[in-house]
Amino acid sequence: MSGLSGIPSIEDFDLKNKRVFIRLDLNVPIENGKIIDDFRIQAALPTIRYAMDKEAKVILASHMGRPKSKADKQRLSLEPVALRLQELLDCDVIFIHEPDEEAAKGLLPGLKRKQLVLLENLRFSALEEENSHEMASHLASYTDIYINDAFGASHRAHASVVGLPSIVKQAGIGFLMKKEISMLDQVLYQAETPFMAVLGGSKVSDKIGLVENLLAKIDTFIIGGAMAYTFLAAKGFQVGSSKLENGKINLAKELINRIESRGKKILLPIDHVIVENLKAAAQSTETTNEAIPEGWMAVDIGPKTRKLYAEEITKAATLFWNGPMGVYEIEAFSKGTIAIAKAFAASSGTTIIGGGDSAAAIKKVGLEDQMTHISTGGGASLEYLEGSKLPGLEVLRKKD
Ligand code: ADP
Ligand code: MG
Repeated sequence: MSGLSGIPSIEDFDLKNKRVFIRLDLNVPIENGKIIDDFRIQAALPTIRYAMDKEAKVILASHMGRPKSKADKQRLSLEPVALRLQELLDCDVIFIHEPDEEAAKGLLPGLKRKQLVLLENLRFSALEEENSHEMASHLASYTDIYINDAFGASHRAHASVVGLPSIVKQAGIGFLMKKEISMLDQVLYQAETPFMAVLGGSKVSDKIGLVENLLAKIDTFIIGGAMAYTFLAAKGFQVGSSKLENGKINLAKELINRIESRGKKILLPIDHVIVENLKAAAQSTETTNEAIPEGWMAVDIGPKTRKLYAEEITKAATLFWNGPMGVYEIEAFSKGTIAIAKAFAASSGTTIIGGGDSAAAIKKVGLEDQMTHISTGGGASLEYLEGSKLPGLEVLRKKD
């Protein structure tokens, strides 16, 4: 079973002198005009380089953030990305400010070797998110071959993800997309056991689909982050003023039963780092057991839990991680998340990370090279592992 069956790849097409539109996910964090982490740009390079080597006339396009007002036009411009691409590829990146004008069409025939075109943030036009036919056919008017290498956007039915490839006859995926899907397929269909999932982050409701879909495959669920308190509440523990999803307590109870009745394990925190409020990090303390006192909130897993989870992780052959163990953005509450990152780095098993914040935490401690795969798409990887079809992938699948 493969999520890639029937999906053409960039290598299946003759790119020479063709106008090749490559949809990328170049949505990188930018502060004051500076790129803080160019992970997604780096991940896009193999496909761009391949198309350039094959002498295609390359048009790159991406979204950036969620522009709402005119004021966002500067903050969410792809211009800093154009400059970074120019450095990394050692070629001339021609930046087109208005993605829905005729400029690209006029430019492409005269494009020289070592020159490529980058369109401005596609979402500056509301038509992108509306999956408007008008926008798709405009982009199609200067596209001979369409390549989707924007894994992180492929769960969105937008004009450049779904509308455009449904018009262009020759359409397929790039190398990043292929790698992302193959890695997640390994988790879904070929995971070596013991297979463990470390789940954290803010909400149980975000991860339920994944738990449901992987319930039969995963041997041990290791739970942390805010979602742990909904599970602890379901077990009858006092959770103080910790972040809680009251409406999900019954569901958490049911999930615990389903996991345990299959003879599988679910590990919940056995101690916590607690504070009276998030601003009082200096006054944080630790509990001695599961219970959290009235008026206090748990913001990280405690030292006993860190040890327990790290030991469990050494027994795994396959590890998947989504969601930090605590409010890791605040250093005092990042120990649990760092402990998981270190345990993953030390594991001899396959380690796959699918979540924006978990990935950021790993990079903060410089352990990214020790992982088998860090996905470039948090939302897309979750949806894929939930068993949902990604619209950007399905539109490319040949059915016969
Ligand atoms: P990912 O991006 O890896 O999928 P999520 O977006 O689900 O992760 O969750 C990340 C957020 O969860 C972080 O902003 C973090 O501060 C928050 N979080 C983790 N643990 C707690 C906690 N105990 N209380 C409140 N927020 C938490
Ligand atoms: Mg997140």
